[in-house]
Amino acid sequence: MKLTIHGAARQVTGSMHLLEVGQYKILVDCGLDYEKERNVQSNENFPFDPAAIDVVILTHAHIDHSGNLPTLVRLGFEGQILCTPPTADLSELLLLDSVSLFMRKAASGRKGRKGKFNIGAQPLYLQKHVMDTVERFVTIGFNRPFRINGDIELTFIPVGHLLGAAAAVLKINDNGVEKSIAFSGDLGRKNYPVLDDPQALPPVDYLVCESTYGGRYHTADKSVEQTLIENIEKCCIKEQGRLIIPAFSIGRTQSLVYSLNKIFSSGLLPPVKVFVDSPLATRSTEVFRKYHYLVNQEAQEFYNRRGDEFEFDNLTYVENLKDSRQVSNYFEPCIIISSAGMLDGGRIQDHLFYNIQNYYCTILFIGYCAKGTLGHRLLRGDPIVHIKDRDLSVYATIKQTDVLSAHGDHADLVNTVRELDKTKLKNVFLVHGETGSMQAFADTLEEEGYKVTVPEKGVKHELH
Ligand SMILES: [Zn+2]
Repeated sequence: MKLTIHGAARQVTGSMHLLEVGQYKILVDCGLDYEKERNVQSNENFPFDPAAIDVVILTHAHIDHSGNLPTLVRLGFEGQILCTPPTADLSELLLLDSVSLFMRKAASGRKGRKGKFNIGAQPLYLQKHVMDTVERFVTIGFNRPFRINGDIELTFIPVGHLLGAAAAVLKINDNGVEKSIAFSGDLGRKNYPVLDDPQALPPVDYLVCESTYGGRYHTADKSVEQTLIENIEKCCIKEQGRLIIPAFSIGRTQSLVYSLNKIFSSGLLPPVKVFVDSPLATRSTEVFRKYHYLVNQEAQEFYNRRGDEFEFDNLTYVENLKDSRQVSNYFEPCIIISSAGMLDGGRIQDHLFYNIQNYYCTILFIGYCAKGTLGHRLLRGDPIVHIKDRDLSVYATIKQTDVLSAHGDHADLVNTVRELDKTKLKNVFLVHGETGSMQAFADTLEEEGYKVTVPEKGVKHELH
């Protein structure tokens, strides 16, 4: 049995891991590599023949795990894509959104080159490739062992992080030898709004583990609600300004809306107007409603007491572009939740364009921003940023909080490994983290006597 880390090796995005059991090839995740953002086309250079992959396992819908699947299909993959039911629904929404993003970039690339066709801006895939991909989804519920073939059994374990997100645990008969390996996917955290706590993984021989927050700890002193209340009080009530929260449409927005609902419905703050300006957020909220049985106990109880946790009086879901532009003309204090979370596209760019030079505006980041994105440039303190073909000085207040980070921190990551049977665990492969984070995580595990590998991209590891 052989493992090759083809993506998210010593970086965060582009998860793609190949497990070979004899001749049988399993690809775990097939994400877009944001670090290739300047040349999205390079995502089509697979280091293997897509037609030779037998099956894909998709841990969750986030685009850095799912976003290159339509390219894999376009280039010849013909097998099944195994995932949980919410992952199938959310991936379809996200992949279609990716196509829109590609098309917009292609259009602006053509415009920017004065009529010359910019080959670098060609869409990586089209809607029909997304539909071909969606057709290949085969859904499996959590904790239900599924036989991929006579030698390989897959179980999805819930890990919080996003509705439907799972660790993939494989039990394998490798030429008569029983082996097991778990791919963590992305690991969530306890007490997260809307989502259940991550479940402990069963004993395994090998673990491929994410490392996003290796070496970093979440600030534990404030809750999500306290943090939101402080920011709303300062920005919207004292300064009578606007609070703009860039948020991923899927997952982060629903957790944010639910937390705001709790604040306003319990009268902790006067009802400040809230706009959710993302059609994708509106559609994905429907998926959260569809799989309501998977939200956590607290959200279930809120629903039973007060009704829909994603609706309240002072909340408006903005549907069309015309209404989105009207939000800029809304002069009362307000909260605008819009995507994309890293500011690399979407309607948030309009809101920033009109508000980045407004002293009474606060931009509150609640998630990770990859290098090369506008969000990353604002967070590192660039005084001037380029938005919609203009260089604009930054006068708005830029703030960041990790209370809504959907990833476990260093302690959570280490605990995930500690919960496994140490005598059985032969090696932990670290993926999905910047090198410093991986090293910090590796150091702690090695101090505790674990064997750890920080794999290089494309290097094959024999798993005995
Ligand atoms: Zn994720």
